[in-house]
Amino acid sequence: GLPDFAPAVVIGTGYGAAVTALRLGEAGIPTVMLEMGQLWDTPTADGSVFSPMLSPDRRSMWLKDRTEMPLASFLWIDIDRRIERYTGVLDRVHYGDMSVYVGRGVGGGSLVNGAMAVTPRRSYFEEILPAVDADEMYGTYFPRANHNLGVNEVDRDWFEECDSYQYARLSRKHAEKAGYRTTFVPSVYDFDYMRREEAGEVPRSALSAEVIFGNNHGKRSLDKTYLAAALGTGNVTIKTLQEVRDIRRGADGTYRLTVRELDETGGTVARREMGARYLFLGAGSIGSTELLVRARDTGTLPDLGEQVGQGWGPNGNVMVGRANHAWDLTGATQSGMPALGIDAWDDPDNPVFAEIAPMPAGLELWASLYLAITKNPERGHFTYDPTTDAAKLHWTAEQGRPSIDSAKVHFDRINGVNNTVYRHDLFGDTRTFENRFTYHPLGGAVLGEATDLYGRVKGYDNLYVTDGSLIPGSTGVNPFVTITALAERNVERVLAEDIRG
Ligand code: FAD
Repeated sequence: GLPDFAPAVVIGTGYGAAVTALRLGEAGIPTVMLEMGQLWDTPTADGSVFSPMLSPDRRSMWLKDRTEMPLASFLWIDIDRRIERYTGVLDRVHYGDMSVYVGRGVGGGSLVNGAMAVTPRRSYFEEILPAVDADEMYGTYFPRANHNLGVNEVDRDWFEECDSYQYARLSRKHAEKAGYRTTFVPSVYDFDYMRREEAGEVPRSALSAEVIFGNNHGKRSLDKTYLAAALGTGNVTIKTLQEVRDIRRGADGTYRLTVRELDETGGTVARREMGARYLFLGAGSIGSTELLVRARDTGTLPDLGEQVGQGWGPNGNVMVGRANHAWDLTGATQSGMPALGIDAWDDPDNPVFAEIAPMPAGLELWASLYLAITKNPERGHFTYDPTTDAAKLHWTAEQGRPSIDSAKVHFDRINGVNNTVYRHDLFGDTRTFENRFTYHPLGGAVLGEATDLYGRVKGYDNLYVTDGSLIPGSTGVNPFVTITALAERNVERVLAEDIRG
């Protein structure tokens, strides 16, 4: 059950939430984390915690009757499968022209993500968050985040000779032929473990195609890093299958939460109330923003401003596949964890950072896949829909167009030089560029707009946003290192001024 009250409550257990709970716990503040997903630490009958990637079972997805994979088809054959409805680890939330993938469970997105741990280019960070002191970020908080997340780099010699990254070496060859530069991508997947997977010394995870439905080995997800440390302080507890629905403020100035306890099929076990003096929203861009727009528009936190719900973007995500020549093999074994990206971010007209993504099917597919991050100035926003009691994201296909146009410039060039073509069979219909989903939802409660420069929500004391909602729609690279570093910076200030002070 839930306690009636805690000095600090953190909603969610993703990056922002985990950092915040650790620092509160270290400061001696009793802290309760409320997570709507499960704790993923117990093997089922097959001996593994997470679902296999290529034959997904009910553990794969959050309350769905079918899997909803990012690649919908191969040779136009539907690759999704029926599954039993269950509180699984990956959710895909649909909002008209855009759908958003998120992790559910203790560790949030860290359970399902590709582990790419990229620090943004300083000049771009300064462009998106000009009011944040970049010297402090690059001198203190980015290094702190990288250290605590357990970021490591692939051994370059092994990379050049291993089977698992043949696909990346092939894409590099094609990119370099067209005059592009590639860069290695740091990771929170343990590359030493991966090397031992390929050598046959340990059970396979990255080399067994595992990624979006969870990794059974090798990945330093938050439950193994920040959250383990938070629990180790003795001051932090995590309550699972607890979904926060409503936030009000009591007459004494404390916050009152309505919390729905879920069963494993998503049904309601109970609704309870819980109080908190300090409330931290770490439910992710779509989760925290929904809580805030609901609270504003149902009148439970009426002083929330117009900036709440604004400034959302998909980090310019676009997916694209190329068909390779018969002699250009990617190899049947492809590491599920990317290690290389094509860096065209300096292109003044079409900045693109394209991660070379695996297609880990266990057989040669003669295809190369990419997740491109583009710089798209379009922004979406959320409103509250009383008929569904949910937040609605306003984002149109038209707004995604600049991302496709930018990516196309570069992949047209790569195809042209290499005499290759796009794959038309990957995204359910014949489209070549897919941007109807994002892995990188950002914004909704932007730093310095809906909050002050340290995540304090405008209009209310002791109410904070700690997660990807703070970032205005784009980071230019995969976002979790930025989210972690900002959370480190903000909680340090809040502890010093609001809580200890
Ligand atoms: P999240 O990590 O989203 O955590 C939010 C948590 O809050 C979740 O556990 C959720 O269940 C919980 N929650 C939500 N609402 C409520 C509520 N009302 N009550 C209780 N709990 C709630 N980023 C990278 O940097 N590198 C990558 O390689 C990468 N690959 C990705 C691959 C996939 C498939 C996905 C989905 C994402 C990927 N990302 C990657 C993105 C990255 O995982 C996210 O940017 C990051 O997890 C966001 O962190 P956060 O703190 O904002 O919230």
